[in-house]
Amino acid sequence: MAVNRTSPLRKMPKVELHRHLDGSIRQETIVDISKRNNLDIDIADIVSLKKRSTITEPMQDLAAVLEAFDTIQKVSCSFEAIKRIAFENVEDAFHDGIKLIELRFSPAFISLDKEISNDEIIEGVIDGIVDGMVKYDIQVGLITIVSRTLDYEANRQGTLDVISYSKNGRHPGADRLLGFDLADRENTTEPSDFSELVNISREAGLGITVHSGEDTDASGVQKTLEVLNPDRIGHGVNAWQDMQVVEMLKERDVLLELCPTSNWLTQCVPVLAEHPLPDFYRAGVKVSINSDDPQLMDIDLTNEYEVAEKYYGFNNEDFRKMNLYALEKSFLPDDITGKIRKTHFL
Ligand SMILES: [Zn+2]
Repeated sequence: MAVNRTSPLRKMPKVELHRHLDGSIRQETIVDISKRNNLDIDIADIVSLKKRSTITEPMQDLAAVLEAFDTIQKVSCSFEAIKRIAFENVEDAFHDGIKLIELRFSPAFISLDKEISNDEIIEGVIDGIVDGMVKYDIQVGLITIVSRTLDYEANRQGTLDVISYSKNGRHPGADRLLGFDLADRENTTEPSDFSELVNISREAGLGITVHSGEDTDASGVQKTLEVLNPDRIGHGVNAWQDMQVVEMLKERDVLLELCPTSNWLTQCVPVLAEHPLPDFYRAGVKVSINSDDPQLMDIDLTNEYEVAEKYYGFNNEDFRKMNLYALEKSFLPDDITGKIRKTHFL
């Protein structure tokens, strides 16, 4: 897997709803931030660093995966570093042909074992994306993540701090904090463990998306739908095992944020060609194509469109339809999505 700079699909206008901020840190930025802040990351050998901070083969070796996450987690170490990472995320998305992107980040994950406040994290992310939107013709929304395996109180505080920013608008760009996501290994907890945080977020006006059906079966998606009633599902791949759950997705008008290469690397699907993305699409479930963690997986969104063209036979009209679904289900307000629809997708 590698990024293809000359793909004709690069210029195609795209909408992306599922990309993790810290899964999208450039290698040179890891090196540079590490040097400036004297971080405990071995950067002497760039080839070995790339090996340690990317995942390009299906995950058999959990230690290698944990090392990759450990490395990227250390890099978001200050307001300045986070602002730079957020800005570069927007810059890279723009060069990927993306017209609207929603980026997600977890205050509890970023602040783990660090002296950094939620305010610094939130403001760093906001300032970075605002700078990106000033420089490039792209619209950006933000989603706060609750990581299932992390401390509940840290997650709760992160959620409350994001809501407080989004509500009182004391910081320019805070109105871009629009969504809540539940992520991380699914089988460690029950959806109901997070009902409180989902309800608080929904009441505050945030859109709700939940990582589900990635490492649980279709019943995990069903439970998520019944208990948390999300607007969108991250992945949801295994819902295809049960047509009743597929029907539930349609009835509830829930969009699936599908990420083919990521789903293959995490062994959610055995090979890219067997991903149920085209099955969901042809069954009438609203789906969108996403990159999840592009730098971590050495891909970009254009790569995922190439995968969809090659393995699922999607053409430009299919891509347009999926981008319209993504715009419809974006957490950004209608005036912004409407303008993008009119300019790029009609
Ligand atoms: Zn994800």
